[in-house]
Parts: sequence; C-alpha cells; structure tokens
Amino acid sequence: VADVANLTKRFGDRTVLSGLDLTIGRGEFVALLGRSGSGKSTLLRVLAGLDGAVEGKADVHGTVSVAFQQPRLLPWRKVWRNVVLGLRQDGVSKSRNRALADRALAEVHLGEHADDWPLTLSGGEAQRVSLARALVREPDLLLLDEPFGALDALTRIAMHRLVEDLWRRHLPGVLLVTHDVDEALLLADRVLVLDGGRIIAEHRPGGSRPRNPADHIDVRRRVLA
Ligand code: ATP
Ligand code: MG
Repeated sequence: VADVANLTKRFGDRTVLSGLDLTIGRGEFVALLGRSGSGKSTLLRVLAGLDGAVEGKADVHGTVSVAFQQPRLLPWRKVWRNVVLGLRQDGVSKSRNRALADRALAEVHLGEHADDWPLTLSGGEAQRVSLARALVREPDLLLLDEPFGALDALTRIAMHRLVEDLWRRHLPGVLLVTHDVDEALLLADRVLVLDGGRIIAEHRPGGSRPRNPADHIDVRRRVLA
C-alpha cells in the first residue's frame, strides 16, 4: 500500500530524509523507531500527502488515515463529530455519520463520551478519539504517530490489544511510530530504525502472537545502542 523510494525531504538547507526506501505491504504491520528529531513524523506527513515538496517516490494506494502525535481535535465540535470529520472526503453519506462514529468510539471504549466536548476529555481519551477518527475510515494505510504516548500503563496495554484486534479485522497496512521498543516488538511484523535520514536497521520479530518482547534482547541492544 506504500512504496517509497529514494525519498529526500529538506527543510531549507536541512536534510531530514535522505534517500529513504520503504515499502509497506497490504495488511503489513510495521513499527518505526528512531531518536527524537530523526524525521519519523516528517515521513508520516509525506505519506499522508500533507507535505508535498519532496524528491523521490512516495506512492500510496488507497485511503490513508493518520493519528497524529497530538490529537488535534476541533474543540468546537463534539467528540462524535470529530470522529467523522474525514468521512466527507471519502464520500460517505452524512446520514450514516452518527452510527459510524458511535461504533468507532465503542471500539476504543469511549462510547459514553460521544456527546462530550473535546476539552473535557483526559489526554489519553483524546488520543483514543484520534484513533477512532483514523479507524472510522477503514483505511488501507493507517499511520500512527506515537498514539499511546499519553496513556497510563494499563490503558496502554488495553490499546495494544485493541489496535492488534482492529488490525486483524480490517487488515490495513500500518506504520506505527513509537519510542517503545517492546511495543514495537510486540505488535509489528517488521521493526525499522530511522537514523540519518534513512532506514538503518530492520528486524522481523517472528513467532506467534501474542509475542514476548523479552525474546528480542539482541534487537533492544542494537536499537538502543
Ligand atoms: P520526535 O520523536 O521528537 O517526534 P521526529 O522523528 O518525529 O521526532 P520530525 O518531527 O520528523 O522528528 O522532525 C525532524 C526534523 O525536521 C527536526 O529537526 C525538525 O526540527 C525538522 N522539521 C520538521 N518539520 C519542520 C518544518 N515544517 N520546518 C522546518 N523544520 C522542520
Ligand atoms: Mg514526531
């Protein structure tokens, strides 16, 4: 669903992505690690078509949804209206909006909050609304930028299960940016490391799910080196 070749992205004279190659297959779950400022969010923005001025190839096929690092909910729209914001561009009839929003919110365990205002939500709840907004479009490619950053440990585990479950049911290609190596090893088919503007390491966790990240000590060492 995504085919990136020799991608270079500059901001002024600063080169953030430099000849990057990446393909994501249909239904493939890819995790992306990399230090702060290495260009992970930039890559996601390019794939989402939000940052056009690039050199090289960045082809994406089908519908793309993004859950940004910051939830970016519109405060003047109720939660459920935020969830369906992207559906208009998908040509979904307005009459189905409420039902689709309710279903997506139920999936992220926020059914009770459909009629709340975004500013009354906790940080973790807002992140889950953002996830619901991404999922409601049933995307072919789902881009997740540290979607679990503001969550407590218990909710985080619940969200891991949820994302894995949703991924199994809809089978989008997923590119998950995370700083949590265990999370990457737990969820992804392929774990990539971005550094110096390109992918410098790739690992396939393998094994049956649910996986045990403890089996991957060598990767952790390499990634954290
Ligand atoms: P983090 O893990 O902290 O979220 P990141 O890997 O997502 O980091 P990016 O947000 O992609 O990093 O930023 C990569 C680099 O590009 C940073 O040095 C940032 O300052 C720079 N950058 C990003 N967007 C812009 C912009 N619009 N204009 C200029 N520089 C930018
Ligand atoms: Mg980022």
